[in-house]
Amino acid sequence: MINVKQLSKSFGDNQVLKSIDVSVKAGEVVVIIGPSGSGKSTILRCLNLLEEPTSGEIFFEGQNITSPDVNIDQLRQKMGMVFQSFNLFPHMSVVENLTITPVKIKKEDPEQAKKRALALLDQVGLGDKAEAYPSSLSGGQQQRVAIARALAMNPDVMLFDEPTSALDPEMVGEVLAVMKDLAEKGMTMVVVTHEMGFAKEVADRVIFMADGVIQEEGTPEQIFEQPKNLRTQDFLNKVL
Ligand code: ATP
Ligand code: MG
Repeated sequence: MINVKQLSKSFGDNQVLKSIDVSVKAGEVVVIIGPSGSGKSTILRCLNLLEEPTSGEIFFEGQNITSPDVNIDQLRQKMGMVFQSFNLFPHMSVVENLTITPVKIKKEDPEQAKKRALALLDQVGLGDKAEAYPSSLSGGQQQRVAIARALAMNPDVMLFDEPTSALDPEMVGEVLAVMKDLAEKGMTMVVVTHEMGFAKEVADRVIFMADGVIQEEGTPEQIFEQPKNLRTQDFLNKVL
């Protein structure tokens, strides 16, 4: 579904990604781990062209999205993204947060969009919060709304950039549970996280990045139980 070939990204003379090759199959859950500054967010942001790659090619569903004639808005509709900060629209109710973009951008019928939104809120355990405003919700609840909002666009893949890093510890579990459920439903997911338990349990494949390079990738068993790369071993010794 996603095929990245020799992707490089520099900011000025700081080369952040150094010829990365990575592919993600439909239905796969790929978790990216690695130290701060290693380029994890930059990869995700290149995938949906929030950052323009310096060189290399990215294919999404067969289309070269790094070619100049790509329709970025259409592309982003197919890729849901969830960030560390939830960025909900504060002046809109929860259900309006979910329906605004499908109705305005995709011209969905408002009644249909609302029906779907309510079903998605049920899915993330917030069926009773449709009319609430974001400021009245906990961080974990807001992040679950943000996930539901991304799903409301019916994306083919979901990109998560440290979705639980800004949460109080007691709220991390409820967000990870929603993500796990989504994975079990077959969603294709690329997840940057420091939650190693989630990576072990949910990932089909774990990628360890450091210094802008994929140092090692494999199944959770391979990476967590028999890491071959010294950098991986060192990183895991620090975080586990
Ligand atoms: P963290 O775990 O802290 O989120 P990360 O692995 O996601 O780290 P990136 O955010 O991808 O790392 O950043 C990689 C490098 O690129 C860092 O050195 C960062 O300073 C640099 N960088 C990222 N975005 C920009 C930007 N817009 N302009 C300049 N430099 C940037
Ligand atoms: Mg980051």
